Amino acid sequence: MICSIMDVRNLPVSNAESNPNILKFIITGAIPAFANALRRTIMSYVPTIAIDEVIMVENNTAMFDEYITHRLGLIPLNSDIDDLNLQSECDVCDGAGCTSCTVTLTLTQETDLSTSLIIKSSDLIPDDHRVYPIVDEIPIMKMGPDQRLILEAVARFGNGREHAKWQPTASIGFQYMPTIEIRPGSKFSKKVVEACPRDVLDYDEKNQSINIKDLLACNLCMECVEVAEENAIEVKGDSTQIIFLLETNGALPVENIVTKASEILVEMTENFIEGFQEAVELAENEPNTMKRVVTFERIPMTGKEYETE
Ligand code: SF4
Repeated sequence: MICSIMDVRNLPVSNAESNPNILKFIITGAIPAFANALRRTIMSYVPTIAIDEVIMVENNTAMFDEYITHRLGLIPLNSDIDDLNLQSECDVCDGAGCTSCTVTLTLTQETDLSTSLIIKSSDLIPDDHRVYPIVDEIPIMKMGPDQRLILEAVARFGNGREHAKWQPTASIGFQYMPTIEIRPGSKFSKKVVEACPRDVLDYDEKNQSINIKDLLACNLCMECVEVAEENAIEVKGDSTQIIFLLETNGALPVENIVTKASEILVEMTENFIEGFQEAVELAENEPNTMKRVVTFERIPMTGKEYETE
């Protein structure tokens, strides 16, 4: 058995409590490879909606069409809807693009001879009210006097494998649970506490000792070990407990990202088992041939597609 039964606990830390976009939890009983698989699945496979095509009707501003288009693609859009098809798998239009798989956002702005204007994400008007910019105040560009910008932006579901603009997270990572051992009787200077970038330690001036104030804030940087006397403090990472941290860019609720990634991991694993069993059966039925190898042309987000050679 690779790992014991996993236990996942929410981590009540101050910034995660106050910011609904951040999720921090501890996984115990799993190997680091599992946490890394979860991290990579979140980054590469959890689909979100982003602008992927722009029809520029008129642009006499100082910005090139390509610059504006690139900026539009990076605006996080609400993706918490489940009835918009993947364009490549849309059975209504066969992947050509239709209202069942794409959403169009229009932008129309112009200035007169004496005004200038900052165009913001809130100026994008969607034809489906559920797909809107998560933040209204994202600046796209500045228009000078007597300029006009008219465009249609087509948004669709995609994932991080296609382009980073479809990644659902602003940041994601994991680390081992820190353990800090302070040798009894050791004397410390205040510099040890000041060296810590995460405010983990407290200084007791009277006894010239240190205490652990916030263990979970420790990022295992070892600065305190460098500054303290030799062997006075020992910091290690416990590989059986993993602290997992992610921050959504707003396209999806942060809990949904982890749930969706877990479902995709299960689907990929089932897909692999099915393909592997088929390969074993083929090899058993044709003992004089070389063992067949199942090749995944691509690992689909849905469906059970795989091909054999
Ligand atoms: S290892 Fe780094 S973060 Fe952890 S207590 Fe020491 S200085 Fe602070």
